[in-house]
Parts: sequence; C-alpha cells; structure tokens
Amino acid sequence: MNIKSATLFPLSIPLRAPMKMSGETVTHANTLLLRLVDSEGREGWGETSAAPLMTGETLGSVLANTAYLLKAAKEVSWADPCEISNIQSRFLYANNSAKSCLELALLDLFAQANGEPAWSLLRKVHRIESLAAPDSLPVLRMLGGSLETELADARALRDQGYRHWKIKVGVYDLSTDLQRVAAICAALDGDTISADANGAFTLEQAVAFCRSDLASRLSFVEQPIAAGHSIADFASLKAASPLPICLDESIHGIDTIKVCADNGVMDGASLKLIKLGGMLPGMQAAIELEKRGLNLNLACKVAETSLSAAATASIGFAMNGAPWGLSMSNAYLEYDICDAPLAAAEGRFKVEQLNSVGIGVVPNLDLVKKTVSREWNIIEC
Ligand SMILES: [Mg+2]
Repeated sequence: MNIKSATLFPLSIPLRAPMKMSGETVTHANTLLLRLVDSEGREGWGETSAAPLMTGETLGSVLANTAYLLKAAKEVSWADPCEISNIQSRFLYANNSAKSCLELALLDLFAQANGEPAWSLLRKVHRIESLAAPDSLPVLRMLGGSLETELADARALRDQGYRHWKIKVGVYDLSTDLQRVAAICAALDGDTISADANGAFTLEQAVAFCRSDLASRLSFVEQPIAAGHSIADFASLKAASPLPICLDESIHGIDTIKVCADNGVMDGASLKLIKLGGMLPGMQAAIELEKRGLNLNLACKVAETSLSAAATASIGFAMNGAPWGLSMSNAYLEYDICDAPLAAAEGRFKVEQLNSVGIGVVPNLDLVKKTVSREWNIIEC
C-alpha cells in the first residue's frame, strides 16, 4: 500500500464548558486530523492532540513533527501493520503523538483493505481472534464546574445511564476537594467514581487525600503525585493508600508500565494513544496490564473528536473490556467533525457503532475545514 496524498488539518474546537484541571483550564480542543489517500483511492483518517503537560506537544509542534514524518512515509510501501512502529522509528525518534496520528490513518486503510473493523484487525495482529464477541464498554464522564453544577450534571447523566465518573481534584485546596468528593460520592452511591489529581498533590497531601474518610467511597485515585517523583515516593504512597492507585502521566508505554508494575506502585493505568504512539502500542500496553492483573482505563485527551474516540474504543473492543472505563472526550466538544458523532447509550458504548470497515468514523471534510485553527494552516504533504 502506498500513500498518494496526505493532508494535515490543525483544528481548534471550543469545549461546551471550560474543563478546569490542576495545571490548566482547557477551553478548546487543539487537535490534529490527518487524511491519507492510498494508491487504490481509499481514504484513511488519523488524529492526535496537543497535550503540553502530558506529552510536551503543542498543536504547532505536533503539526510540524507529523508533517516531517509524512514526507518519509510517502516513500514507503506499507505492507504489514506490525511494521508501522519500526518503520516510523527509522525516521523519527520518540514523538509518540505524531506517530499515533499516522498509525491511526494507516490502520484505517489496512482495515478497509481487509474489509474489517479496526478492532478486529487489532485482534488479528495480536492473535487473540478467539476472544468472545465484544461486550459494550462503560463510558466514564468527567465532572467539573461548581459543586452545584457537578451534582446537577451527575444526576442528569446518571438518569441517562452513566455509572462511571471522574472528579478532577488538585483544583482547590485539599479540604475543599475532599468535601466535593464526599458530596459527589454520596449522590452517586454505588457507581465507579475516581478522582484525578493530574499530579498536583505533594506526597503528604496525596497520602492525606487517599486516607481520608471523605474519599473512602472512591474506586481509585489517578496520578495523585507528579510523574517526576521517585519510585520510592510512589511506593510510599501505594503502601499508605487504602484506595487503588491509577497512573496516567507516569505511563508512556510498555517500559514505564513494567517499571511501575515491577515496583508494585499501581493498581492500574490510564492509556492514551497520544502517549503510546497509536492503537497497536496501546494494545500491547493493555495486554501487559492484563497479564499483570492490573486494571485498564482507556482515555482520550480533553478533548478529541469522534475519530480518536473510535480508535481508543477499538482497543477496548479488541481486549473485550476496560474495567476502569472508557473516556470519550468528544462529548465535551461544542461540535464534532462527523455527521453522526459517537455517543454512549445507557452509559455504554456498543461495538455495533464501530462495525463498519476501518476505524468506523469518516469525518465530513466541510466540517473539518470549518474548524481549522486560526493560528495554523492546512498542510498538504
Ligand atoms: Mg488522567
């Protein structure tokens, strides 16, 4: 398979409401879409997002790196999905976000050429075709705004069937965060509720948070301390915490999973394509977690479009499960890039929505062009 043309669309899409996190308040999705056309005339789409505090990438840097990668990719005859990662690394060191963008578009093309959905291709590549037909995935919703808004949103969404939640903490002082957590847990009793500090707590604050009675109904706490802490600090936290620990910013691939798991400092991890380099490295990471008896959370960056949501969910369907939930962040966008944005039903995402060939989402080119960032231009590679 050869790439005939490649077009990069740097997008800026407003969020329905700003998402306040410990280190930043996100108002727009700064995300990059890639459209490949192969020699057979098939159209494959990829997406990756800027995440300055997680991957170090801005929209400008990921645009430049992906454009650089595409120049080399156009000279390659792509024959085997298993070789995508090795071939990309011949041209560009690190830069998992750019690699993820190209990998998604290539896998979309490979899956279309095979006449199968991307999740089915992922199973084949990892030789797990014998797994049962995929069950629906629990969709996790993030809560934000004032406590009144969080509680009102939670009640409305719970009525729609949602049962998995994430509360962003480290946003206020420790006592206020704990009061919020306790109030939300009381309102959503029996659900799977997590708190994500995005590394904002000191070790002492993290231990105090995890040991507080006010947080005792949480199902897990995500990245309580920053990724730069020593393994000894993470081990101290794990030993002191009665709550399971999920790591996100600390996890950038199989190597970091092995280090954290070997040292017993986590109970599960949050996987994002932008950190791992695409769907196939994402699968490898998910398989490694499962092998070690660790929990899996699948997440898009806040916020990405239906395309990333489909690619991320494909890992969950290929694995047939994501016990700590699937975070599809397209729900937080003011508008999406396709005619029929992906959405959960009864709080779950069903495989039937991704059973067409390829990734399962085909962006509407007119909508894509309307959302191009004012700061950057479309690039034809
Ligand atoms: Mg997180």
